[in-house]
Amino acid sequence: MAETYQHYIDGEWTDGHGSETFDSENPATGEQLAAFHRGTPADVDEAVAAADAAYEEWRELSRIDRAEYLWDVYRELRARTDELGEIVTKECGKEISEGRADVVEAAHMVEWAAGDARHPSGDIVPSEIAAKDAYMRRKPRGVTGCITPWNFPIAIPYWHMAVALVEGNTVVWKPAEQTPWCAQIVAEMFEDAGIPEGVFNMVQGYGDAGAAIVDDDRVPTVLFTGSAEVGHEIADAVGGESGKRAACEMGGKNAVVITDQADMDIAVHSAVMSAFKTTGQRCVSAERLIVHTDVYEEFKERFVEVASKVAVGDPLQEDTFMGPLIEPEHREKVTEYNDLAREEGVNVLVDRTELDADEIPEGHEDGVWVGPFVYEADPDADLRCTHEEVFGPHVALLEYDGDIERAVEIQNDTDYGLAGAIVSEDYRQINYYRDHAELGLAYGNLPCIGAEVQLPFGGVKKSGNGYPSAREIIEAVTDRTAWTLNNSKEIR
Ligand code: NAD
Repeated sequence: MAETYQHYIDGEWTDGHGSETFDSENPATGEQLAAFHRGTPADVDEAVAAADAAYEEWRELSRIDRAEYLWDVYRELRARTDELGEIVTKECGKEISEGRADVVEAAHMVEWAAGDARHPSGDIVPSEIAAKDAYMRRKPRGVTGCITPWNFPIAIPYWHMAVALVEGNTVVWKPAEQTPWCAQIVAEMFEDAGIPEGVFNMVQGYGDAGAAIVDDDRVPTVLFTGSAEVGHEIADAVGGESGKRAACEMGGKNAVVITDQADMDIAVHSAVMSAFKTTGQRCVSAERLIVHTDVYEEFKERFVEVASKVAVGDPLQEDTFMGPLIEPEHREKVTEYNDLAREEGVNVLVDRTELDADEIPEGHEDGVWVGPFVYEADPDADLRCTHEEVFGPHVALLEYDGDIERAVEIQNDTDYGLAGAIVSEDYRQINYYRDHAELGLAYGNLPCIGAEVQLPFGGVKKSGNGYPSAREIIEAVTDRTAWTLNNSKEIR
């Protein structure tokens, strides 16, 4: 191995205080890609100290001056989209078009944040008194801790950091341990942009490094995207401390509702994309298909046909639809949920948990492969497999009879509230779903995937508590001051 990659703290590359290293692996081949120093709480301590020291000077720059550093990053993301997309695919196994899309999504967020620097900030509001000015002004909060997952290894970090930096905060980032190579490149881009020392810091490593950021009193804001398990732990830890804030985006048990008025071609397309794209490892992936009884048999036949045939493949090939899972531990989890579904008595329609040797792409025998698992279940049964997030191509067909109210009742029968889709040609059904589905992200006659940074992105219920992404993140990374000024000579 050529080198062991380092942390980026206070404008310097450093091995840090720990002696351990960890590897990045290609989940499609098992090949070792690179080695990285594993961050410790002492490294986080140093990174937070650097971010804290850099804050006063950084916040004094104008928003427009701060955004200049991000325009450099934007140009690099655009110029290197193909190259970086390939690295995303090699490190996290997404199909190559998805790898590039991750970089494009990052560019959109950076463009939005840097462009926003020239837009009005805060509000001027009317006062009850004529000679009094009344404003809402925004202020940065200080050091922002960013903790990100592996499944959008370039986009989500920028969703966290771009607005935070433009608004005048400094950053300590702990990327996902599965995608340290992507993180290395993100850090190099900030270095290339010449961002001042200490403004951006990255500590590679595992959950203990993330926890050290959360625990540090000098970090008033924590942005987290990842599993509900960790997100709720962070929200609970921070919730008790006054003045500290955690904005967490978590998982879902997302569903596509297919009504009796659905166009069947759109329904099948939406279901297949929602369930199998990125091998079911998107936070918005659907693991429940809620299908009206009048169209159930037709839909089932068509969906099962695709699920039985859809091939896994080398994610670097343009025509591959499904790549590998991220890592062997995750394959174990998906397998356990498939087994659990059986134990819970569902009717299994497709089980491709163990693929035949000839289904695995040549030269990729050591990849983390799994195929679709599809089953029918009773929507009223209290099953773990239909209520817990699996994060893989594990899909329940839930047949319903009755009107749209019944479909939405099933859709809402989950602790989560991230994303969902409806397929219907009936505007009344669509409007009812839009207004009553308990979701942060809802799609009509579309797959349950996709994000546009000019829209909010985030969930309700157990899925999220504060939109640490897209434009709404401004609420998490700024404080508001209600500013009033007496412009008259009168004493008030
Ligand atoms: P994860 O929760 O295991 O890890 C996320 C990050 O948290 C990693 O950097 C990890 O090292 C860190 N971490 C782990 N334990 C920690 C602790 N105790 N304290 C602080 N940090 C800790 O999630 P993952 O497996 O990387 O990602 C998959 C999950 O993310 C899925 O549940 C998915 O639905 C969710 N996700 C949500 C969104 C969204 O916007 N809602 C987007 C992408 C992924």
